[in-house]
Amino acid sequence: MSASQPNPLSYLHDQLEQWRAEGTYQRLRVLESESAAEARFDGKQVINLASNNYLGLTTHPKLREAALEAVRKFGVGSGAVRTISGTMSIHLQLEERIAAFKNVEACVVFQSGFAANAGTVSAILTPEDHIISDELNHASIIDGCRLSKAKIHVFPHKDVAAAERILAELEAVPGRKLLITDGVFSMDGDIGPLPGLADAAEKHGAIMMVDDAHSSGVLGRNGRGTIDHFGVHGRVHVQVGTLSKAIGVLGGYVCGSRDLIEFLYHRARPFLFSTSHPPAVAAACLAAFDVLEQEPERIAQLWDNTRYFKKGLQEAGFNTGISETPITPVIVGDAALAHQLSRELFQEGVLATGIGFPTVAKGKARVRTIVASTHTKAELDQALDAFRKVGKKLGILG
Ligand SMILES: *Cc1c(COP(=O)(O)O)cnc(C)c1O
Repeated sequence: MSASQPNPLSYLHDQLEQWRAEGTYQRLRVLESESAAEARFDGKQVINLASNNYLGLTTHPKLREAALEAVRKFGVGSGAVRTISGTMSIHLQLEERIAAFKNVEACVVFQSGFAANAGTVSAILTPEDHIISDELNHASIIDGCRLSKAKIHVFPHKDVAAAERILAELEAVPGRKLLITDGVFSMDGDIGPLPGLADAAEKHGAIMMVDDAHSSGVLGRNGRGTIDHFGVHGRVHVQVGTLSKAIGVLGGYVCGSRDLIEFLYHRARPFLFSTSHPPAVAAACLAAFDVLEQEPERIAQLWDNTRYFKKGLQEAGFNTGISETPITPVIVGDAALAHQLSRELFQEGVLATGIGFPTVAKGKARVRTIVASTHTKAELDQALDAFRKVGKKLGILG
């Protein structure tokens, strides 16, 4: 680098310094063990309330074996994008398995849930179209909406009447309409109002799309998601799910009609321009769907733990917002306080992430907890003790 010119990236350093001064600078915690209910981060054994591994499948022996077997049989990589030579028989098996599980015509798997959302929304809409989107939808939906260049109409969180008003106003406006919501919202743990939104979509001829990332493996029969939870089968045209959370591996998928899936084969950019999963990933995911059907007690235990832990936080006096699922936020308002709460909890042997702007709105900062089916009551009690102790110390509890 020339000494005469200032570093053109120095503004990044300035921004980092500002975040440090504000107390919102985040160092990455390093996981040194398996991702499990108790795990070692930065040299310390802690109760892990920061993982999306709802059912403990990241370390399930059946998934492990399936992955190892696939490595032996098929190697470690697919060698190409799906449309060139990277479609392996195991990819198709997984897609057929998911489609059958969700009781839809077809399914396509993407490299991640993020790629599934961003790739699908941007593929099926054009700049002449309209998207009606919940204000708290996931970033991958928002990016997909932006990439599509369609007009974006944001409605207040879970406000079915507002969504319907927008659809009514757009009735005479040309272009397709896509109504889109998360099934479970990742920061508040509340459930999207699918029946009301499906009514509104049907009334106005809109495409209905639901992102079930946090509901797959959690809600509905054997973890079939919010469509099954609400019994709105056949009323959601585009169902997105992830293989990275309760399924315990990596990936995202889109379920729907055969035409939708074949269209995505031709136009979804992550499908066309990014290499497909290693065979071990597909094999482990296949094994996970076996586990969902053969070990429903995992989901029952997840909900048991959820009720127990949520009740404990509420009885202690924490503000847990409007959560209805295993995601339970502890809302403290100020971002620096949320990060401090997280750091002090860690000292007490509990990992729960502090989350502030831009992931949540300013003034709504929180520590987010997610219990798993694999947490013991003793671990949950220990975590609750830590929350009470630190909550009092920081003046969050009276
Ligand atoms: C996590 C998440 C995604 C992204 O899923 P990945 O498989 O991790 O890329 C998409 N949508 C929602 C609502 C999520 O919570």
